[in-house]
Amino acid sequence: MTSLIREDVQQLIAMKNQENPVVSLYLNLNRPQQRNSELNSLLHSSMQEISADDRLNDDQKKSLQALSRQIHDALHDKIRLQPGGEMLAVFADTSGLWKELRLPASVANSQVHIGFSPYTRPLTALKNVFTRYGVLIADSREARVFTMYQGDREARHDVMISDEVPDQVRVKASMTSGGQVMAGLGDQRIQRHIQDHVQRHLKNTADQAFAIFKKAGFDRLLLASTDEQVLSSLYRHLHSYLQQRCITEFKAEPREETEVLREKASNAIQAWESAQAMQRVDQLMEEYESGGLAVLGVESVLQAINFGQVHTLVLGNDFQEKGFVCDQDRTFSSSRQTCPICGEAMRQTDDLAEDMIEAVIVHNGEVEHAPDAHEGFRPYGVGAFLRFLM
Ligand SMILES: [Zn+2]
Repeated sequence: MTSLIREDVQQLIAMKNQENPVVSLYLNLNRPQQRNSELNSLLHSSMQEISADDRLNDDQKKSLQALSRQIHDALHDKIRLQPGGEMLAVFADTSGLWKELRLPASVANSQVHIGFSPYTRPLTALKNVFTRYGVLIADSREARVFTMYQGDREARHDVMISDEVPDQVRVKASMTSGGQVMAGLGDQRIQRHIQDHVQRHLKNTADQAFAIFKKAGFDRLLLASTDEQVLSSLYRHLHSYLQQRCITEFKAEPREETEVLREKASNAIQAWESAQAMQRVDQLMEEYESGGLAVLGVESVLQAINFGQVHTLVLGNDFQEKGFVCDQDRTFSSSRQTCPICGEAMRQTDDLAEDMIEAVIVHNGEVEHAPDAHEGFRPYGVGAFLRFLM
């Protein structure tokens, strides 16, 4: 998560349970033709939600409805100019709070929420979403480089690289024109001559990829070719900064449609990320089993959150537990009790996950999601890497 966004998220989380109700609206701008109809339907559902909400008195309902219309009107013109592949999030309340965030479109679907806290759960999964990928596709005479975000529809900084690489026949004609070259040796020289050009092309490709890296920056790099030799030579030509960022490879050619290349890259990223997530959970379990900096299961995790030990919260996708929270001190318990810090009664909740995520993010921790496929982790449902042991 970029630090700028993290600050915004922390600020929003800090505004929990305030006096004035908040409208939280997420508008996905992926489909330009449908932006306005989506906005209208969000306004509609927000109106419905407001009138059905029995926590609100009539005055609050009236001012929230006015606020919803105000959000609608403010976004109506703005979203026509907004680039695709983005998401616009607005958090507003009746006392003048107005916060807009521009996020990658893959964060969430369009949605609106009314409540006494900003609805921030979609923001907590931002870590992978803000990873920028470089994609480098090459064959022996052409190459293409672009950058992308996962789930984003755009290929940015898209560059096609074409180098003069002679083919077998033309080289043969030019090198044997004096009639000096003998058959066997000549073929070897021709091969070497072509290889020189191919290597120069791959070196040029690597240089241009590095130039784009310096200009645009990307966190991870994917290499693609249908030729294994091209792939391994290309890797050797890459600057060590880029080598370190290489995560995976896939099969593709530079002249394929942008949409097809993005799709292939996106699939390769997904496969890599789920393999990473599996490994990460393996690591958590090993750490736990060896008595290291890890806990598993809801009781231990809640205790670790209470003591501020959690570095990374690892959540199973279907983790849902009832429990008790003190909103003031962000302390947790799975059974009814008074808050160990302030001594007040704790609030009951049907889904601890959201409060747990917030507590961890507020303390500069991270949240990761465990893949469903990890069978060892599943019975625990939740776990955490710790900063320190008690
Ligand atoms: Zn308390």
